[in-house]
Amino acid sequence: MLVVGAGPAGLVAGLTLARYGISVLVIDKRDGVPALSRSLVVSTRGMELMRRWGLEDAVRAGAPEVVPRAWVTPDLACGEGAEMSLGYPSDEEAAAVSPSRPAWAPQDHHEPILLAYLRRIGCPLGQGFEACLHASSFLSRFSPSCRLRRAASGEQPRAAAISLWGRSLP
Ligand SMILES: Cc1cc2nc3c(=O)[nH]c(=O)nc-3n(C[C@H](O)[C@H](O)[C@H](O)COP(=O)(O)OP(=O)(O)OC[C@H]3O[C@@H](n4cnc5c(N)ncnc54)[C@H](O)[C@@H]3O)c2cc1C
Repeated sequence: MLVVGAGPAGLVAGLTLARYGISVLVIDKRDGVPALSRSLVVSTRGMELMRRWGLEDAVRAGAPEVVPRAWVTPDLACGEGAEMSLGYPSDEEAAAVSPSRPAWAPQDHHEPILLAYLRRIGCPLGQGFEACLHASSFLSRFSPSCRLRRAASGEQPRAAAISLWGRSLP
């Protein structure tokens, strides 16, 4: 199984598949850790997965103990604004349904933890490889195919054409 993208979604997909014993290759056109922290909060369900994989303490170690709320303000310097819910349960609400709770653990903290775990369980990772869908076959009724190329040079490694299993377009 090919998982394209080693952000939080791809890493969790790859880890889930690998832990079910499915042979999986995770690739990312990026080569290295992310420079930008984008997603900020790991949800209750996300933290349940971290707990199942023994990563909860490591993820929480980089998460300040804050209540995830938004603040809407016209100007960061004015000191005025309105608090807004981000939709996450409070610790008490989470405790009623889960052994875990959300964590304010930004992507540049939790992504390297997931990457290290992926490597630890022996799942292959192709960093610096970009997947390109073959447009002509994608638009046809046949299963699309996908080629891998090195993101930096555009070079195509040998035997890098992969048939994707998927639903044909109507
Ligand atoms: C400036 C900014 C701020 C954000 N702030 C927040 C926030 O505060 N909270 C929040 O929840 N979300 C935020 N987001 C959205 C955030 O991007 C997502 O929540 C989170 O990163 C999604 O994770 P993901 O794994 O789906 O995607 P990503 O983290 O974007 O990972 C996708 C990966 O796929 C790789 N990729 C893409 N195409 C290919 C290809 N063809 N071949 C190989 N690799 C490929 C990319 O290099 C990337 O590493 C923000 C986004 C941006 C841009």
